[in-house]
Amino acid sequence: MAQLHSLGLPRIGADRELKFALEAYWRGDASAEALQAVAVQIRRANWAAQAAAGAERVSVGDFSLYDQVLDHSLMFDAIPQRFQQGASGNPLDNYFRMARGRAPSGSPQRACEMTKWFDTNYHYLVPELAADQQFSLNPAKLLAEIDEARAQGYRVKPVLIGPLSWLWLAKTSDGSDRLALLPALLECYRQLFALLTERGIDWLQIDEPALVLELDDAWQQGYREAYRTLAETPPKLLLTTYFGSLADNFALAASLPVAGFHLDALRGGDEYLQLAGQLADDQVLSVGAIDGRNIWKSDLTALRERLQPLATALGDRLWLSSSCSLLHVPVSLAREAELDDELKSWLAFAAEKLDELKLLRAALNGEPVDAQLADNAEALASRRRSGRVHRNAVKARLQALSLKDGERQHPYPVRAVAQAARLQLPLLPTTTIGSFPQTADIRQARAAFRRGELAAEDYRQQMEAEIRHCVEQQQACGLDMLVHGEPERNDMVEYFGELLEGYTASRFGWVQSYGSRCVKPPIIYGDVVRPQPMTVAWARYAQSLTDKPMKGMLTGPVTMLQWAFVRDDQPRSQTCLQIALALRDEVVDLESAGIAAIQIDEPAIREGLPLKRNDWREYLDWAVYAFRVSASGVQDATQIHTHMCYSEFNEIIEAIAAMDADVITIETSRSNMELLDAFVDFKYPNEIGPGVYDIHSPNVPSVAQMVALMRKAAEQVPVERLWLNPDCGLKTRGWPEVSESLVNMVAAARQLRAELG
Ligand code: GLN
Ligand code: ZN
Repeated sequence: MAQLHSLGLPRIGADRELKFALEAYWRGDASAEALQAVAVQIRRANWAAQAAAGAERVSVGDFSLYDQVLDHSLMFDAIPQRFQQGASGNPLDNYFRMARGRAPSGSPQRACEMTKWFDTNYHYLVPELAADQQFSLNPAKLLAEIDEARAQGYRVKPVLIGPLSWLWLAKTSDGSDRLALLPALLECYRQLFALLTERGIDWLQIDEPALVLELDDAWQQGYREAYRTLAETPPKLLLTTYFGSLADNFALAASLPVAGFHLDALRGGDEYLQLAGQLADDQVLSVGAIDGRNIWKSDLTALRERLQPLATALGDRLWLSSSCSLLHVPVSLAREAELDDELKSWLAFAAEKLDELKLLRAALNGEPVDAQLADNAEALASRRRSGRVHRNAVKARLQALSLKDGERQHPYPVRAVAQAARLQLPLLPTTTIGSFPQTADIRQARAAFRRGELAAEDYRQQMEAEIRHCVEQQQACGLDMLVHGEPERNDMVEYFGELLEGYTASRFGWVQSYGSRCVKPPIIYGDVVRPQPMTVAWARYAQSLTDKPMKGMLTGPVTMLQWAFVRDDQPRSQTCLQIALALRDEVVDLESAGIAAIQIDEPAIREGLPLKRNDWREYLDWAVYAFRVSASGVQDATQIHTHMCYSEFNEIIEAIAAMDADVITIETSRSNMELLDAFVDFKYPNEIGPGVYDIHSPNVPSVAQMVALMRKAAEQVPVERLWLNPDCGLKTRGWPEVSESLVNMVAAARQLRAELG
């Protein structure tokens, strides 16, 4: 009989309890004990859910207070030097200092770099290593959680990130080869395995998602070496890969001496069947049959048919699971009372995916579940048939699109002259990325309006008061190009998702983005239509308050796609172009309302890149084209900005240039302007604002720091094409630190103008 297990579950809690507990602790409003008590509740609920679904073992180690990659860094004692200075006696605070740059105790420090976990919108903290790196095992967290689960009576399967993937995700601060650290790191894994074996652990899930990437010989050799070593001792290893196919690494992976494999049966195609054909008699195959990256119901009848032969052949050596950890989907549909029944019947969040696994296993075991399978089939049929999904006018407009629709009137040098005449900006203009602090008042007003407790007119007045405040503050700081501050937006994608047809929003569908930050991706279920302007009234009001240029603010088509749960019944490129057309209409409307600069944010363009380089070209072609379609409806004198953050952009700098935005503002300060390395070989042709102020830390940057960063930038980019701005939006910050930081930023600009002008 097939077994069933979870690769990992959401850990924020059904009500985002972890978020609130973390933030209370950071503010000093709650004790460490209170925070840990919430963590215990979440872990228990997750274990109970796995047990209820019939899992033979519950997963332990998928929980984290901030980030599982950082947890591993601590477990291996890979703590960068700077965190030893000013550390406190409190291990929890030392952990949060690495994550956030500060904690209730210990002095502030530059936080660890953060970047996206493979092609997801989850951000992990990048391990920082050096050639002389020492590792030592510090397994307290994992062991405590194992004891905790066993005390509840569960059999336990710990989840670890494998040594190669962890090293792959790391970077070295001295440019040395991180793979050289493998032997030392393996020593930690061996010690850990010994401890786990002592505790009676028989199976370990060892995640090696790096196996779906293109690996060179050295990394492939690393895999052979590592798993030869690790196979020498128990526990049994379930080598777990996801997010793609093994492709060229298939033979390598299949040859590793492990007790079992987990493969992603959605993105990995039929590789699981191929692997099944070459399993040794005692090896286990875990099939990731349920989509861990999307929220559509699975076709359980089809899955039963596909998996029946394997179930018969493998018996309890077939394990069933989701394709990847369910960290990437919301917790449960149970409380989505506002979603209509039809739509809801098409969906499955994490809890429902565990139900699907349970049902699939029952079906494979020949239990009498025909009625439930029929319900499942009926839901899928209703989605295919639904008139809400298909709009002829949208399809016709898409058909009519041509290359011309992705082109501005003239090339950048011509546009730049028209824009300079219109905008009258100084050298090194200062601006921000869009959002300003989202105070409790703002959030309360939005919530009250949503609940119908605040009349539309009162809501408008309150938002306008916020915008006015925001404009006044920016003027007081002396900024050159202003923004309205985005008080009306809960989230840059959800906001537009609520205004576009073809999108819907859940109420509680939160997914962890990083640490305590969660996002609630909207759901794109049908053809996308903009019924009316979405931002024009706010932008017009904001512009009426000032003579300085006001920048309109939109979320770009790729990000609108990337940060949503996207329909799976047509190519993503089609859905993206539909969104681009809706945004194009908004851009043109903003221009007509007198807005001279419009920013179309594309922070997600990098993370949309396929994991395999072979697939990059195709993606970049349609992604860049979609952006250009959204931006190209305007006159030369209207300045198009874009913004990107938290990624390594160097590899796609040419595609970014091909987007042809007049100005790009881009994250760089945490990585100390690493971005500029790309400009040594490639001269970015348009204007650029490399972020000089790390907005993910509450530290106020000094004038000297920002001046130094900009001097570095000016070595690579002509000063006439440089802007000064923060790394990203300021919504998570507080007003006092924001004002202070922006005053410093403006002072830095003045100093630089005198120096470089
Ligand atoms: N305009 C958005 C803001 O400032 C951009 C956010 C982002 O890039 N993630 O909040
Ligand atoms: Zn950003």
